[in-house]
Amino acid sequence: MADISCEVFDEDDQIYLPNIPQNRIITVQNVTKKYSEVPFSGVDNASFAIDKGKIVAIVGESGSGKSTLLKLIYGLMTPEKGHVFFRSELIKGPEKKLIPGHEAMKMVTQDFSLNTYAKVYDNIASMLPNTNLKYKVEKTESMLQLLRISHLAQKRVADLSGGEQQRVAIAKAIVTEPEVLLMDEPFSQVDTMLKSQLRADLRRLSHELGITILIVSHDPVDGLSLADELVVIRRGAVLETGSPAELYNRPRHLYTAKLLSDCNVLEKDAAEKIGVQVKKTVVGIRLEDVQLIENFSSGKMRVVDRFFKGYGEEVLLERSGVLIRALNLEVEKFQVGDLLDIGVKKVLSFD
Ligand code: ADP
Ligand code: MG
Repeated sequence: MADISCEVFDEDDQIYLPNIPQNRIITVQNVTKKYSEVPFSGVDNASFAIDKGKIVAIVGESGSGKSTLLKLIYGLMTPEKGHVFFRSELIKGPEKKLIPGHEAMKMVTQDFSLNTYAKVYDNIASMLPNTNLKYKVEKTESMLQLLRISHLAQKRVADLSGGEQQRVAIAKAIVTEPEVLLMDEPFSQVDTMLKSQLRADLRRLSHELGITILIVSHDPVDGLSLADELVVIRRGAVLETGSPAELYNRPRHLYTAKLLSDCNVLEKDAAEKIGVQVKKTVVGIRLEDVQLIENFSSGKMRVVDRFFKGYGEEVLLERSGVLIRALNLEVEKFQVGDLLDIGVKKVLSFD
């Protein structure tokens, strides 16, 4: 993740970042926005920076403040404390702007905000002025092609599927060539098959147009396979940032480990009862890191249940009252009641 340290010029109501790295496009600096006295609502002292052309995913459980953070970045809300900058420029909130939202950015909300009774073509074209009609037609057609919705151009938005509407919303957002595309939960309305297509499309947009993409997702698996960088948020605060691989392999917080993977969480004494040595207070053991070793005569763990997953099964094991789940790709190899031993390939330890 980009280093956020940067001095702020703040004098006579003039606030800007005088010395930012060339590649930096967004800087979020100590931003706080509380909705009420309810603890953990909104965003709490968040800081991070985004480099141009990157795909960044803000991930966190529901209610952790992701949508609020996105609105603060776009300028739909004003922080109580701290600042958001687009390059050097302070992003102004709605009280200081006639049309809320920064001009160089576009946001695709969860409801898509399309004119559902108008045609797809008109939804996109309406974003462009009539001063150059040739450009308007060409640009709209190129957006239709880019999002692979040319065949839908003359259909009404109301007659499209959720996934198709989302493509129209993206085309509409990027037809004016914003530098940053913000998307709130882009994966929540599309089914599994369309998810991988959407991921590939967003990657392509980022590479072909150089657009910086910031998405928010409560399902980090979506962020994991799409983003260059993740921002993990919990109760409004940024817990950690890093590449998906860094955070998956070396999470500093248990929250991150639990968010990014399916893992067994065991206290030190429980872990030791099943033969896992622990240096800290709690461990996370991912399902795929538990090896199952056949030992029907004297194994120490007993299979108590099996859950079919399609590509494999989840096996629930028990020893001395401690339960642990493991991923088994050889379905039918073990039966409930079988005894076996486990090997643990990797243990994530936390204080
Ligand atoms: P997320 O997008 O991660 O689910 P939100 O940013 O929507 O989280 O909300 C963060 C917290 O702030 C939640 O506890 C939510 O209930 C609260 N919140 C969000 N919007 C409002 C609002 N307009 N008024 C009061 N509380 C709000
Ligand atoms: Mg949200």
